[in-house]
Amino acid sequence: MGFMSSKSFSGGIHPPASKKITESSSIVKCPAPPAVIIPMQQHIGAPAKPIVAAGDAVRIGDPVSESGGFVSVPSHASVSGTVSAIEARPHPLGGKVLSVVIENDGQEKWRDDIGFDAKYAELSRKEIINRIQAAGLAGMGGATFPTHVKLSPPPDKKIDTLILNGAECEPYLTADHRLMLEEPERIIRGMEILFKVLGAKSGAIGIESNKMDAIKVLRQKIAELNLPFKVYALHVKYPQGAEKQLIKAIINRRVPAGGLPMDIGCVVHNVGTAAAVYDAVAYRRPLVERVVTITGAGIKSPKNLQVPIGTPFSHVFNQCNGLTQDAGKIIMGGPMMGLAQSDIEAPVIKGTSGLLVLTEKQSRRKQELPCISCAHCVDACPMGLLPKMLGQFVKHERFDDAESYHVLDCIECGSCAFVCPANINLVHWIKNGKLRVMQKRKKAN
Ligand code: SF4
Ligand code: SF4
Repeated sequence: MGFMSSKSFSGGIHPPASKKITESSSIVKCPAPPAVIIPMQQHIGAPAKPIVAAGDAVRIGDPVSESGGFVSVPSHASVSGTVSAIEARPHPLGGKVLSVVIENDGQEKWRDDIGFDAKYAELSRKEIINRIQAAGLAGMGGATFPTHVKLSPPPDKKIDTLILNGAECEPYLTADHRLMLEEPERIIRGMEILFKVLGAKSGAIGIESNKMDAIKVLRQKIAELNLPFKVYALHVKYPQGAEKQLIKAIINRRVPAGGLPMDIGCVVHNVGTAAAVYDAVAYRRPLVERVVTITGAGIKSPKNLQVPIGTPFSHVFNQCNGLTQDAGKIIMGGPMMGLAQSDIEAPVIKGTSGLLVLTEKQSRRKQELPCISCAHCVDACPMGLLPKMLGQFVKHERFDDAESYHVLDCIECGSCAFVCPANINLVHWIKNGKLRVMQKRKKAN
């Protein structure tokens, strides 16, 4: 194609990409740690319930918990060995969460009913959805919404478009990029399954145009498999990979305020989730490992690692020769939306796309100054909000005003705070405001 169309949305920012550090590093297998910690909460929704007891022997792929409801998924052993404890352990989303701890016997024994099912293409919609839930799949882009729920829209919501998210717009992260280059078949086969289940009419993959090699590889694979999917080269702009912005850029539809993509006939899945869907449906293989980008100037040897779920961060860092002398803040995810970590014994979970370690200097918080009403935050907001006003409302506990200025539409992308010359921590105030408005609404019901 001579002319490359580049699509986008309004607002957004251009933070330094910092992807060079790991974008050329092939995915390497991380050796399993001496023990894994499998938290019962690794997805949005009801926590899973443990179904094993201390002393039980498990193989890789054995379920260690069951779904706690429809919006919930089970988890599985990622090593073979013995359950040593079921107890609260540090969790990357904060606090302690009930977890199944498994001592690794080093045998790497898999559950024996896992393997290629040559007849998987004949499965019914319901059977496919059941396999996806049984495999414990939750969105691997970081949002961790149970995958089977997104595939079960209410009957009045007709889905015509499936979009795969390969934008990977967060700075530093390269896990999806590498997966697209190295595992295109799993992604496209998984997309084919998702497309069938949803009964969609069109399928599109959105990738930022700084990953032309991945765009090329996926286009080739789609042609080879003779599938009707299109790959779109998207403008390099943050947050291009946010669900609503991705939909706007690719099919020019707007998700209504407070609504979901399925309200406008659309479902979005991450490319990593599509690959895991293929494993779950064609192999009955549960989600027991994922690609994680270990990066930043605070890491001695940055890498893209295939990590068993439940591996403590400390073990992952050891595989990268550890942290530098001047290592500072540790973030799970990218610098824009990731979460600061306080305990390196917390485990990699299904939504861990990256572990970013900054230097002390990079971690220093800049002093907050008074607002100079420059409106940069307004121009940057991809949701068309007034971040400065929202911040002020929340600061002064004017939650009704925050609500009527659509605080709940904020997608917490951090663009406003990134551009603010006064270093005002707008996201902190806005997140707080969202919480208060949601609490208020709950009370009113
Ligand atoms: S107000 Fe919310 S959506 Fe808008 S830029 Fe700030 S964090 Fe992003
Ligand atoms: S970017 Fe910062 S200084 Fe400028 S208007 Fe927004 S809050 Fe005020």
